[in-house]
Amino acid sequence: MATADLRAGFLESLFTAGHLIPTGARGVYGRGSTFEAIREGFDRLVTRAAAAEGAERLRFPPLIPRATFESSGYLRSFPHLAGTIFGFDGSEAAAAEQFETASRHDDWSGFQTMTDLVLVPAACYPIYPAIAARPPLAGLGATIDPGGSYVFRHEPSDDPARLQMFHMRELVRIGPPDAVLAWRDAWIGRGLGLLRGLGLDVESDLAADPFFGRSGRMLAASQREQQLKIELLVPISGPQRTAVASFNYHQSYFAALHGIRRADAGEVHTACLGFGHERIVLALLWAHGLDPADWPADVRTEIGL
Ligand code: ATP
Ligand code: ZN
Repeated sequence: MATADLRAGFLESLFTAGHLIPTGARGVYGRGSTFEAIREGFDRLVTRAAAAEGAERLRFPPLIPRATFESSGYLRSFPHLAGTIFGFDGSEAAAAEQFETASRHDDWSGFQTMTDLVLVPAACYPIYPAIAARPPLAGLGATIDPGGSYVFRHEPSDDPARLQMFHMRELVRIGPPDAVLAWRDAWIGRGLGLLRGLGLDVESDLAADPFFGRSGRMLAASQREQQLKIELLVPISGPQRTAVASFNYHQSYFAALHGIRRADAGEVHTACLGFGHERIVLALLWAHGLDPADWPADVRTEIGL
């Protein structure tokens, strides 16, 4: 069967089982209680591993100030994925006209202006400015646990693994280059172990971000060449593999952008890792079956079901 048919078929069976709930928008789904129990169970596994290495928990809403977003370079690399929040700030007459236009499902964008907020595209984005605002980092720097934040990517799709709003479970390491790269590499092994422990057929591979346009292809090639992004891939809804986690070495990019400093004035690098919660739940449902009651006992125990 063609990949698109397999994906559509899996999505349909997820709706039927009540794991995902259609909303009318592609890639925007409600989740049933079993789906959430699996998602939260996986999240606990990551939290436990992060706590063991002394990660500091910080939580942010899934929005960033537009000014921060504008300085981040996101619009250069991923203009096609961003989601900006607009609002209404007009007269009563304009409000009435907007209502009429929108009620007809006609274009009401002319009544809207940009707010100062953008939907967060990755859970780590609010962390760098927050750390930059602190006194310079001591010793080997910091490991931050921003939790499983909802993030937005404008990529509507019928693939159940390609959502517009999903939970990205990140960890962020900020500090001396050697320590940051060693952390990133250690977590690739830890991530492989974690997912294999859940009975998933996982492989790691070099990857690149979905950079926009022709210059983006060059950026992607250079990212691969420098081995900056490694992904863990698992079959979801067919033999083809999908990335369920990525391990990203940013070198000095975010530290320089936000002015993160070390007390000893040494160079600051950053890395982050992101587990795609929903993709991991889907991989588990695909591998072990739609009813967790039938899953291998050790996997159920590991997830805490
Ligand atoms: P892809 O190449 O699949 O679009 P990406 O390289 O853009 O993914 P990252 O930015 O590395 O993804 O995001 C971290 C993790 O978030 C990914 O490994 C994946 O598990 C998850 N993820 C990314 N995009 C989506 C999406 N549209 N829907 C669901 N999960 C996603
Ligand atoms: Zn990140």
